[in-house]
Amino acid sequence: MIQFCKNCLYSDQHPLGIIIHEDGICSGCKVHEEKYKFDWKYRLEKLKKIVNKYKSKRNNYDCIVPITGAGDSYFIIHIVKNILKLNPLLVHYNNYYNTQLGIKNLANLRIKFNCDILIKNINPEIVKKITRYTLRKLHSDYWQSLAGHTVFPVQTAEKFKVPLIIWGAHQGTEQVGMFSHMQEVEMTRRFRKDHDLMGYEAEDLIKPENDITYEDIYQYIYPTDVSIKNIGIRGIYLSNYIPWDPKSQHEEMIKKYGYKTCNFNRTFEKYDHTNCYNYMDIHDQIKLFKVGYSKVTDHAVREIRHKRLDRNTGISLIKKYERKKILFDNLFFKWIGIKDQKNSLIFDVMKNNKYWLRKDVKKYKFNGLSKYLKYEKSKNKKTKKIYFINNSNINLNEIPNYITFGKGIK
Ligand SMILES: [Zn+2]
Repeated sequence: MIQFCKNCLYSDQHPLGIIIHEDGICSGCKVHEEKYKFDWKYRLEKLKKIVNKYKSKRNNYDCIVPITGAGDSYFIIHIVKNILKLNPLLVHYNNYYNTQLGIKNLANLRIKFNCDILIKNINPEIVKKITRYTLRKLHSDYWQSLAGHTVFPVQTAEKFKVPLIIWGAHQGTEQVGMFSHMQEVEMTRRFRKDHDLMGYEAEDLIKPENDITYEDIYQYIYPTDVSIKNIGIRGIYLSNYIPWDPKSQHEEMIKKYGYKTCNFNRTFEKYDHTNCYNYMDIHDQIKLFKVGYSKVTDHAVREIRHKRLDRNTGISLIKKYERKKILFDNLFFKWIGIKDQKNSLIFDVMKNNKYWLRKDVKKYKFNGLSKYLKYEKSKNKKTKKIYFINNSNINLNEIPNYITFGKGIK
């Protein structure tokens, strides 16, 4: 029996692990409630005290901030520069799936915040080779992106001897309430390996069955524990000190700094992954194959918890979006050099038989988690209309092509 939370739309099948308590409410919703209970002014003061110790006295950077140009990048830098008064070094791992809009947002961010930025471009042929393997072996188009985004900041901290790394939200805390905000959980090698990298560190990709060598993966190797300890590298999450609310944060960034947004085919959300052709497309499709729900569920849950969306509307939105056709799979397959993917079984082997019932060759019946979500009979409850701003008028489908490198305007 699949058990769903009474408040949000997550079930006990969540891949990060969720606990549904006796009152029917999940651990994620319980931890979310802390956002309304805690003294967040006090917590911000606590954060200021923590970071003040890292202000450089030797004309070095005070901290490192990993950015993608989308997601929470603008908000994190806004807090770091304007509220915490730190001088950050921004670091960006290029995953090569860039949209035109993502490049624009990244260029605009550089100008508006006037920061130094370090961009890592790993040889694309190596990134493709690794991706061909992780797609087959781990069913992931995104291993390289997550591995690069989570290792490059730590390598930079080591190289420049800047011990403090500042991240936005901790996914385990925000989605499933793995930790209380009070625990002030910090970045660990372990969480990265288990959750971001699906149990595979870079070294684990070298196998007799493939031609991946140490030369291919050394750029993704995490600094040693000894080095981390000697420099005192730590990564903190702003979401433990600031009540995290991506929708209102993004809207503040749109107003203050001109962050640009766009429509997506597979969700009602318009702010999060504007930088990437894959995240809300092939990556989202694979998520539905493997875990029986897609990103639109994450978005609906987040908005229900923030009390901007009611449960029934959330269910309708999930059903409306989760199985929409993906648009950019050809782009991805062309990039990694796989031909004739239409006839291959590459997607079929990814389908979890719990959520996809096989009827015939290449024919499956969808039995994902939304099939078990029940509408509530509500008499007096008004449905809430949720609104997201699209201020770019860019249709990602108009000029579909990965932008390898971007250049700034200034
Ligand atoms: Zn819940």
